[in-house]
Amino acid sequence: MSNADSKAKIEALYEFIRRLALKHKLNPDNAVRIFTTLLSATDGKGLSDEDLSEITQMRQGEIRNILRMLYSLRMVAYRRGRHPTTGATRYYWYPDFSGINMSLFWRKKQVLEKLKQKLAYEENNAFFRCPTDGLRYTFEEAFEFDFTCPKCNSMLVEEDNSRVKEYLRQRIAMLEEEIKRDEELLRAP
Ligand SMILES: [Zn+2]
Repeated sequence: MSNADSKAKIEALYEFIRRLALKHKLNPDNAVRIFTTLLSATDGKGLSDEDLSEITQMRQGEIRNILRMLYSLRMVAYRRGRHPTTGATRYYWYPDFSGINMSLFWRKKQVLEKLKQKLAYEENNAFFRCPTDGLRYTFEEAFEFDFTCPKCNSMLVEEDNSRVKEYLRQRIAMLEEEIKRDEELLRAP
């Protein structure tokens, strides 16, 4: 995977966390901050909510709400431990890398939405194409231009878009299948 790829993936992941936070009425930037703070704690032992509060200066209540949200999506996990001095039970949080394909999952859903919109557009319109420069027009546009290309004056030709629609339907079916499998994996214990 190239650097650009992984950067795009991380960006999609953060965007995903931001959206989730908004849905849960949490501060999106703080949610990302908690996640990135856990990511950068490299000793592998995890951070307690107290540690997180010390590092980020955020309230523990808010931190716990964010952790709960991330945990519900398996983006973070915890282990039980003891406070180093008092011996009280504490929870140490760390990123759950098995859950990080969530960003990919979320992107698949976005792509699916776009493909469905595209298909609806293809299904609900008739199209005309200029044989000279390949420009494409909807029926309404072609009608408005008297079925001549406004750029080069060529006569527009009606386009058969059934192959485009077929291609879109196949991609939608494949993606839906993939998303269904991902959802089953995400629900699995
Ligand atoms: Zn033209």
